[in-house]
Amino acid sequence: MAELDRTQQHAPAPKDWTYAPAPESRDVVRIAERYSNFVGGEWVEPSGTYATISPSSEEPLATVAQGTDADVDAAVVAARDAFANGWSELSGSERAKYLFRIARILQERSREFAVLESLNGGKPIKESRDVDLPLAAAHFFYYAGWADKLEYAFPNRRPRPVGVAGQIIPWNFPLLMLAWKVAPALACGNTVVLKPAETTPLTALLFCDVLRQADLPAGVVNIVTGDGRTGAALVEHDGVDKIAFTGSTEVGKAIQRRLAGTGKRLTLELGGKAANIVFDDSALDQAVEGIVNGIYFNQGHVCCAGSRLFVQESIYEPLVEKLKRRLTTLRVGDPLDKNTDVGAINSAMQLEKIRSLVQSGVDEGAEIYQPPCRLPEKGYWFAPTVFTNVAQSYRIAQEEIFGPVLSVLTFRTPDEAVEKANNTPYGLSAGVWTEKGSRILWMAQRMRAGVVWANTFNRFDPTSPFGGYKESGFGREGGRHGLEPYLTFDGEGRHDA
Ligand code: NDP
Repeated sequence: MAELDRTQQHAPAPKDWTYAPAPESRDVVRIAERYSNFVGGEWVEPSGTYATISPSSEEPLATVAQGTDADVDAAVVAARDAFANGWSELSGSERAKYLFRIARILQERSREFAVLESLNGGKPIKESRDVDLPLAAAHFFYYAGWADKLEYAFPNRRPRPVGVAGQIIPWNFPLLMLAWKVAPALACGNTVVLKPAETTPLTALLFCDVLRQADLPAGVVNIVTGDGRTGAALVEHDGVDKIAFTGSTEVGKAIQRRLAGTGKRLTLELGGKAANIVFDDSALDQAVEGIVNGIYFNQGHVCCAGSRLFVQESIYEPLVEKLKRRLTTLRVGDPLDKNTDVGAINSAMQLEKIRSLVQSGVDEGAEIYQPPCRLPEKGYWFAPTVFTNVAQSYRIAQEEIFGPVLSVLTFRTPDEAVEKANNTPYGLSAGVWTEKGSRILWMAQRMRAGVVWANTFNRFDPTSPFGGYKESGFGREGGRHGLEPYLTFDGEGRHDA
């Protein structure tokens, strides 16, 4: 308990706030020692394995399959079989029942999933509990609602499923990205082979248990774990009709090159370097909360993170001062502690990448600020970081760091803000802080970004389409738009079962 300051007669306040640990119990989830691939509704013994660890303690959590070409092939065959023998012909209302069931089971088991997500990925439990899990369930609920209304969503176009979808997801929102991909695919009558990221396979594997509980027909969803080689095998497989990928721009480009001319459909959700633009008429304290949420949420492992802060010159000093003060109150540490704001960096490799980009910022002449905080000895950690004195040409203003690192730049006029904000090869998201509605609309029309938030940041909703411009990819996930990549229409080629 913090020592009380009794120098004042009334309302004694602690001299410094310390938090007693409030760890969430790990007992709620049972992790198996070893997991296989989930193919055709069965656990299929793999030929190779690797250990998945907890990034906050480096302790091994389980052994999982390193999927081979043969494993991917078996999964695609199972998915094709399930597509041809029932799933694609099932009525929309029947498919919806399964999706509703999955959504409800996720809700019921949300604590178990949240703990596992934080253990395997390093994100704070309050985020996995309050953001990842509710949103994952919401995606299944939302797309369950569309399953029997596709004719109304796309009138006179005779929507039909595409076939077998190969889905490759990253490690920053493991279960949520699974939900973004699996829910619309199933709602439209497709079957799925999904590859989770190498470092975060465990919630996808627990999800197989949900599929069994929901009595989903065998082969409709197949999960093959492994590293990039497993993803590449899925991309290359001739039996896959569509690839949905979320990850780095580099791998996205390689996939696009690989698929050119094959007739396979492709959606890519790639990197970002979002501008968060604060005008001098905005509510500063509210903006500071938005900036913090924009870049330190999920350790900055967010494709749409507000990693470039543009501040109108007249408020630069007070805003940066408030921001630095706010950073001193962020608690970095054990992801399972309910007080934690910033958890562990997902992997040693990602930590190395963050360190080297931060070093480049220092070397190029930016001024670094990190609040005093004691980082745990074991595990992968990086203190919340702010760079000021940043020039647009610096690597920290150009490249996706994917860590808790903010670059602060300035502007004078709205035109200049637009020009600087759009000066990036990416175009995934942006934020605008101002009290003027007309300025919000003016800015939103000019920002080359798939999502523009106004007086908020990092808000997600299954009804709202999400996706990029330029090197942030193409195709939309979420909303009615998110159905289209999983449907084929009259006049388009169809891969018949
Ligand atoms: P990747 O793009 O490599 O990973 C995304 C997914 O693709 C993972 O499942 C990965 O498997 C798989 N994959 C890797 N190589 C291939 C391939 N050749 N063919 C098919 N699938 C493949 O991202 P990283 O995890 O390596 O992260 C690197 C950087 O990418 C980060 O530092 C960050 O900047 C950015 N990133 C952006 C994301 C976003 O949402 N925009 C998400 C994740 C990363 P495996 O996990 O085994 O590598």
